[in-house]
Amino acid sequence: MISVRPDLRALEGYHSAQVDVRIRLNTNESPEPPPAAFRDAVAAEMSRVQWHRYPDRSAAELRAAIADSHDVDPSMVFVANGSNEVLQTVLLAYAGPGRTVATFEPTYQMHAQIARVTGATVVEGERAADFTLDPGEVDRVLATARPHVVFLTSPNNPTGLVEPAERVRQLIASAPGLVVVDEAYAQFADWTALDLVGEDVPLVVTRTFSKTWSMAGARLGYLVGPAALVAELDKVVLPYHLDAVKQIAGRLALRYSDEMDARVKQIVAERERISTELASLDIEVFPSGANFVLFRPRHHAGRAIWQGLVDRSVLVRDCSGWPRLADCLRVTVGTSGENTEFLDAMRALLAAPPPPDQNGTSR
Ligand code: PMP
Repeated sequence: MISVRPDLRALEGYHSAQVDVRIRLNTNESPEPPPAAFRDAVAAEMSRVQWHRYPDRSAAELRAAIADSHDVDPSMVFVANGSNEVLQTVLLAYAGPGRTVATFEPTYQMHAQIARVTGATVVEGERAADFTLDPGEVDRVLATARPHVVFLTSPNNPTGLVEPAERVRQLIASAPGLVVVDEAYAQFADWTALDLVGEDVPLVVTRTFSKTWSMAGARLGYLVGPAALVAELDKVVLPYHLDAVKQIAGRLALRYSDEMDARVKQIVAERERISTELASLDIEVFPSGANFVLFRPRHHAGRAIWQGLVDRSVLVRDCSGWPRLADCLRVTVGTSGENTEFLDAMRALLAAPPPPDQNGTSR
């Protein structure tokens, strides 16, 4: 009888409910496809792909283009199939059995999940009730667990909070091992930890093409970090893991940075509109530096609001059953029209009196 590794039996896997609705604001994607000129350019280059040959194993041109966009040396860039695979490669190389990984919850679930799959022990630090990071708790986790890898997500998912630069600097100074700052949403925030990366600094910053670059369908992500660390990752990752088409798509996408900057501005403006309007309803809204907003209705059950939105063909992420996130929902910023429909639906739902809970009292 075959049996899975005992330490994997309790793992649940990553789920994001997919419901057939008109307006999908649940997975933090870009609401628009990439520019038409990008798609034409990819199609033109694809006609020259050598399908019978393995792709460039080192993805040299793509790495060079990414390095150029951040003004670093290509040897400091590691590219993989989505930032999830970047994270997995980091954890395969620097975590694994007998090692410890620290997260500060609530945060992106895949950090702990992938760490556990590599066989590492995960230590979950706690954030304060407003989801900020308490320096005392950080010190406690570092001192007691001595983690080989510490994760920070900035802006954090699902809370949206941007980690102050000073906090990240302190963490790098006091961490006993590698610090990973996951910047999947950094383009929507006002600072980046990329400026802190250096050959002698135990820091990597991960990025993705899935959000700002409107390329979730391509699965492409990367990190910037010390060249010596990138060389270790190159040893661990599977050979030829990045296919030729993806290498082309990523390289060409970077030519459209002006268009993407304009979109980021538009999304940030819409995010502020959503936050302001939700706050004017009876809702607790967490400040966001990302392309989504976490919120908690004060007098309605989060799950009931989620269902009410689905009934109006709007899908948001239901975080209400997650640990530490009771009644919270997360909405991805969509197109202006989609956001208006979401807000109209929210207004209608909150105008209805909350149903009495089991004790007969309103919540
Ligand atoms: N990090 C964070 C914080 C995310 O929210 C996500 C996407 N949900 C990822 C990484 C994974 O992104 P990718 O599509 O590049 O694998």
